[in-house]
Parts: sequence; C-alpha cells; structure tokens
Amino acid sequence: MPHRKFDLIVIGAGVLGTSHTYHAAALGKRVLHIEKDQYPVNATVRNFGQVVPSGMPADWFQFGVYSTQLYTQIQSEFNISVRKNGSLYIASDEEEQRLIHELKEIMDDRCYEANLLTHQQCLEKWPTLKASYCREGLFFPQEVSVEPTSMIHRLIEYCRIKFPNLTYKPSTTIINCHISGDEVRVVTHKNEVFIAEKVIICNGGEFKILFPDLFRDSGIEISKLQMLRTIPMPDVGLEGNILTGLTIRRYESFSECPSFPTLQTPEYLRELKRWGIHILFKKAADGSIIIGDSHEYAGVNDMDDLGFELNQHINQLIFKEAQKIVSFDVTAITRTWVGFYAQHPEKDIVEIDIENKIHIRTAIGGKGMTSSAGYAEKSIQKLFSIRPMD
Ligand SMILES: Cc1cc2nc3c(=O)[nH]c(=O)nc-3n(C[C@H](O)[C@H](O)[C@H](O)COP(=O)(O)OP(=O)(O)OC[C@H]3O[C@@H](n4cnc5c(N)ncnc54)[C@H](O)[C@@H]3O)c2cc1C
Repeated sequence: MPHRKFDLIVIGAGVLGTSHTYHAAALGKRVLHIEKDQYPVNATVRNFGQVVPSGMPADWFQFGVYSTQLYTQIQSEFNISVRKNGSLYIASDEEEQRLIHELKEIMDDRCYEANLLTHQQCLEKWPTLKASYCREGLFFPQEVSVEPTSMIHRLIEYCRIKFPNLTYKPSTTIINCHISGDEVRVVTHKNEVFIAEKVIICNGGEFKILFPDLFRDSGIEISKLQMLRTIPMPDVGLEGNILTGLTIRRYESFSECPSFPTLQTPEYLRELKRWGIHILFKKAADGSIIIGDSHEYAGVNDMDDLGFELNQHINQLIFKEAQKIVSFDVTAITRTWVGFYAQHPEKDIVEIDIENKIHIRTAIGGKGMTSSAGYAEKSIQKLFSIRPMD
C-alpha cells in the first residue's frame, strides 16, 4: 500500500459505498475503499437488479434517472451487465388501471417517456403473461436492469482500472473510526491505521461493528426479503423489469397518485399484504427468472429475531400469486435465498455527520440499485463543497 494517508476513506463496497467511491475518485480525490468481505455479498448482490426510476418517490426520481445514465455510460466503456429492456407495470383490476393512468400523467409532466399498453399489446410483447391477469400495462422503455450477482464486482473492477488515485482493499474489517485533530483515523482488524481528511461509512445492514450505540437510537428498521430463481428458461418471453398489481399498490411513485388514498385492499390480497409480498420478475442474462419478494420487519435492536430461515408459507404464497400472472412453471426453482436491507420509516436515507469529518450514509431501503449513483454524486459534492455542474 503506497499511501497510508488519503483524502477520503469509504467503508463498505455495496452499491452505495462504491458509488461514493466512484464520484470522489472521478473528482481526483485520493480514495481508499475498504470492504470487510472477500467481495460484497449483501443486499447489493441479493436483489433483482431492477433500475426503476419510475417507482421512486418524487424527490428521488432524478437520482434514479441519473443512475440510469451513469450505468449506461459506464456500460459503453466496460461491461457492468447493464441491459436496456424497459420496465412494465401490469394492472390487474380497475383500481390499478386508474393508478397507472395517473402515473402516466405525472411522468408526462416530467417529460419522462411512459407508454400505456393495451391488454393485447402486453400479451403480444410478453407472450407468457396470462390474459386473465393482465388488463393493461404502463411501459417505461428507457429503463435498464443489471445482473445483481456480478454488477457490483464489475463496477469495482472498472473503478480500479479507471482511477489510479483509488486503492481498493477487500477482506478488511474496520473496527474503529475516530477523529484525531484535523484527521480521521480508521483502524482495521489487523490494527493497521489509515488516515484521511474525511470518512464515509456505507455499512448497509451492519450495525454492530462501528458506532453501535449510535445506531441503537437511530430508529432504523431491517427488512428481510425472500427471493427465488427458476432454471434457465431462454424461450420464455419476459424481458425487462416486470412489476405487477401488488407493486402498483406498494411503490412510492404510485402513492403520489390522486386516487391512492382511496385504494382498497381486496380480501384475496390480505394474506399477501400481511407478508409484504408483491410480485416482481426479472429475467437474468442466463435466461433464469428471478421472482420475489416478501418483507418482514424488525427494529435495528431486534434484527436477530428475523432469523436466517426461509419461510415455506411465504414461498407458497409467492408461487400461487406468480402463477396467476405468467404461464411458465414458477415452481421450477433452482435457488431461493433471503436478503436484508435497512430503511427508516420517516427518512429516505439515514445521514449522520460527526464533526463534518465522519459521514454515515445508510438505510437507503429498497431503492439502492436504482438511486445510489445519483444520490452519491450529490452527497460527494456536498461533502467536498463542490458546486454542481449545470
Ligand atoms: C432481496 C432484495 C431485492 C432488492 N431489489 C432491488 C431492486 O431491484 N432495485 C433496487 O433499486 N434496489 C433493490 N434492493 C435494494 C438494494 O439492494 C439496496 O438498497 C442496496 O443494495 C443497499 O446498498 P448498500 O451499499 O447500502 O448496502 P450493502 O449492499 O449491504 O453493502 C454494505 C457493505 O458494507 C460492508 N461493511 C459494513 N461494515 C463494514 C466495516 N466495518 N468494515 C468494512 N466493510 C463493512 C458490508 O460488508 C457490505 O458489503 C433490493 C434489496 C434486496 C435485499
């Protein structure tokens, strides 16, 4: 390691930490990027890889749009697994139809391309959809997806090659981080000390190593999600990010629609809602289809109560609902797993600043793959007092 002193140390190499690293390194800052695992294995690799600005709350929409542009630009230089296949929201009843029409108007006002598709148009473009489920669709052709299991590893590799001013250090746990005079000192599990002007901590769902007492009072909660992956099904026509009726009833962009406050939950959806289930599909590059997900919650101090087990009742509920939507066999599963992300019930992200030197950025919730790159650009500009370019 040639330098022990840096402008910035970023702790955590999930999508949020790596995005901060990218933007700081692009500004010419000398950055040390540290990850405790051999390679990232948490939320950033366990997700769908859907990049869906159309699902974001209004004030995060632009972060999603910017992230899409940045991913696409990087993809033109280096393969980080970006594919532009668009996002489709499928309405299955009148209330969901009303919501997609209202979201279309909101997106028209933002000059963000959104196309209403008839029942017939949806079935022609995605032949595996069931006619009995799909009434109408709202399609965002410009949206992209990434391969969750490889994207972050490729992005880290891209940054390492692109920026000689960046040092990446995996398999290194930071066990202490404190201010000493004008500097911040970080201490590794091997007792190595690195020094920087500033430190950004993007710890994801890890709250027990650094500043545990601070997190204890933070109000953060953890969500546990169940996910499934089918065997490769190259002939199934289901390209892009596929989001269904329960997603329309759940995503924050729809909660800003005029009819959302009067939305009713029909009896047949009650058990699914109880487990926070909404059905999403993402066809991966190998032809397998990722299906999910469910949400169980616990406060940060009780996160161990969420356990490590997959609940078979939840998987059965997902199978049953998913099979109403598509005609391929959703039970032809090769893998199922759990993922965890942190969120805050009242904040879009948790930002804790200690003496303008240590900056904790965590609990970005279920929108990290979509919005981290855009959010991190703003965050780095603010921390280094850089005026944004027009
Ligand atoms: C099942 C699932 C599906 C999802 N689907 C989507 C989707 O389709 N689209 C979307 O936009 N978002 C999605 N999300 C949300 C998204 O995955 C998260 O918002 C995002 O990955 C969070 O990134 P992060 O960098 O904050 O956290 P993480 O990915 O958890 O990364 C944090 C990293 O910090 C490291 N770390 C922590 N403490 C230390 C320490 N002391 N020293 C060194 N390293 C440390 C950890 O090892 C970890 O690698 C989904 C999430 C899940 C779980």
